[in-house]
Amino acid sequence: MQRLRLEISGAVQGVGFRPFVYRLAHRYGLAGWVSNTSKGVVIEVDGDTEVLAQFAQAVLNEKPSVSIVQNISSKYLLAAGYSSFKILKSTGGKREAFVLPDLATCGDCMLEILDPENRRYRYPFTNCTNCGPRYSIINAIPYDRPQTTMSRFRMCSKCRDEYEDPYDRRFHAQPNACPQCGPHLELWDSEGIILAKRDDALIRASEEILEGKIIAVKGLGGFHLITLASSDEAVRTLRSRKGRKMKPFALMFPSISLVSEFCMLSHGERESLQSPRSPIVLLKKRDDQDSGMCISKLVSPSNPEYGVMLPYTPLHILLMKEIGEPVIATSGNLSDEPICTDEIEALHRLEGIADLLLVHNRPIARHVDDSIVRIFDKKEMILRRARGYAPLPLSMDEKAVSVLATGGHLKNTLALSIGKNVFTSQHIGDLETVQALEAFDEVWSSIEALYNADPEIIAYDMHPDYISSQRARESQIRSIPVQHHIAHIYSCMLDSGVRPPLLGIAWDGTGYGTDGTVWGGEFFHLTGGTVSRIAHLRCFPLPGGEKAAREPRRSALGLLSELFDDPGQHLPSGAIIPAEMAIMKKMISSKLNSPITSSAGRLFDAVASILDLHQTIEFEGQAAMALEHAIGDTETDESYPIEILELAEKPMVIDWAPLIHGIIIDASNGIDTGIISAKFHNTLAEGIAAVARRVGEKKVVLSGGCFQNVYLLKRVVQILEKIGYKAFIHRNLPPNDGGIAPGQVMAALMMNSEK
Ligand code: ZN
Ligand code: ZN
Ligand code: FE
Repeated sequence: MQRLRLEISGAVQGVGFRPFVYRLAHRYGLAGWVSNTSKGVVIEVDGDTEVLAQFAQAVLNEKPSVSIVQNISSKYLLAAGYSSFKILKSTGGKREAFVLPDLATCGDCMLEILDPENRRYRYPFTNCTNCGPRYSIINAIPYDRPQTTMSRFRMCSKCRDEYEDPYDRRFHAQPNACPQCGPHLELWDSEGIILAKRDDALIRASEEILEGKIIAVKGLGGFHLITLASSDEAVRTLRSRKGRKMKPFALMFPSISLVSEFCMLSHGERESLQSPRSPIVLLKKRDDQDSGMCISKLVSPSNPEYGVMLPYTPLHILLMKEIGEPVIATSGNLSDEPICTDEIEALHRLEGIADLLLVHNRPIARHVDDSIVRIFDKKEMILRRARGYAPLPLSMDEKAVSVLATGGHLKNTLALSIGKNVFTSQHIGDLETVQALEAFDEVWSSIEALYNADPEIIAYDMHPDYISSQRARESQIRSIPVQHHIAHIYSCMLDSGVRPPLLGIAWDGTGYGTDGTVWGGEFFHLTGGTVSRIAHLRCFPLPGGEKAAREPRRSALGLLSELFDDPGQHLPSGAIIPAEMAIMKKMISSKLNSPITSSAGRLFDAVASILDLHQTIEFEGQAAMALEHAIGDTETDESYPIEILELAEKPMVIDWAPLIHGIIIDASNGIDTGIISAKFHNTLAEGIAAVARRVGEKKVVLSGGCFQNVYLLKRVVQILEKIGYKAFIHRNLPPNDGGIAPGQVMAALMMNSEK
């Protein structure tokens, strides 16, 4: 007889781990105990050595599907003489256990809400230890009901019995509820007058949606605006009320089979859609769909893809069953503001946007948006990280002091490291509005409070004007500035696990450079302890500075001014009216309000303008996306010439001059835009390979918003492979600025350890 002690860390609380261990111990006839601790779960069992080994193996093999074991340590000790198996009370201590993300409704709960005989029939707040809300209802850890927004609901005796029965699926399911004791729905008009309650509210809301109305629906991590996807009229109304002209809307489908009628669906895409994470997955539209249903062209105009999700709470499942066709489910806010979470607040913030509100009385502890992923090379690549993913950490090998990072300016997130784990907050958004700033402050205090963290270092972006940077400098803690693109590279290193020596390539829209120019087409050589900017794209002026981000024609004019005396002559007619042209030219020649940039994003903008795809844009990346989409099914390996200039004591320069000349000639010869675009992308990939060869590091890290471009990413990965190099790309953190904060954490840790 011996005693086995297992200490398990990871996402092992609130997922039915202890009852699972309880049942397992009974199956093996072992006595002992299991307990939640601040670090995870501890198990002790007495038994025969061989049985103990089998038991330990079974713990790993059969663990609850939603749990994540990060580390397991086992020790054999003297038998303790246990006589039965018990679930002991949780113990306190320093909090290291993970908070789980919100999980989509499981199959068992789904069956219950659709079963007329079940007491939870049509109950929109059904959940169990395998599914349901977590991060969006937690106020503090350890994860116990009084520490969640469910604390106001007293469990009825039936729910209480389930909660206390280790053999029940709802044993210690903190948000456990039923129609008798749990939250309920209400349908409100735009003044907050109650029109219907409970199931009537749900049915009435679905009828209004089918009528073409716009309904604000309080869901898991915030409000959606829901309206019928088939109705041009409804979509047009939503666009005008929300102030969003072209940017695609996400769709929610009632079923996976209907998704496959409208979209191409690979195995990986299907898996992502149906996973407990249940993200929005970007899917290629089918052009051969004939289900008799339709989706308005206004949902995702001039875009070959839809953003699609499946219903992920009982509320959404029941609603979608009533509606029976795809709906737009876009975040409940004005464009660029964070998602709204409170029904009283929604009455004001969504006034004039939503016709009616479907609300409930389970408070949302924090906003959690829908996540967005794309399947690239069979695996998920996260583009917006929130529901289903946040706040699960990524782990480093390096154990170090606690660092908090305040992120960038656009697509802001925060990150916090404790020990080896880096926790990235849910997506906050662009820090452009008062609401966004409030959300930023809330997330900051809540992430520190949740983990009881006391960071020793604050990392932030070098940009002097970013609010996230100002906030960091105002804090009393030691702060370390991190250059934007270096943070991108570290983010991808954290994501992929790769370590120097390596070549890091960060291509995006803009970031503050250390030499007074705006960076964005950067190559860094990382060796043991140093980071050097080894190459960048050729620079050009941006007349009007910040304005260029919304007006590709400004990038084009600036870029062309480097090559021609009369740059306007190579722009499509009417792109810039003469009066504006004169002002912009003056800005360039006098170097006033014309910052110099090496940005890859602005190079894409310039080409999109020259090819007359977009002269002005509504949302970030719109012109670059149009340029990528222009390729369509075009297949060519052709490219334009590109030059690498090697300068003494200075970074190499990738000169796009021959590339731009080639494009202008092709365009004037009437060559198809798709072919020109493909050749442009191919050329950039070749430029990257040429630099990589000169640097000679076989490991190449790719980060920054430009690598959301699938054609570019694929091409670069392939060309590097061809020359015997290996590309490391983003998977778990967004390549865009949503990944900046965790990158800042790691960069600051590296800089700190060198001192
Ligand atoms: Zn469930
Ligand atoms: Zn109940
Ligand atoms: Fe960036």
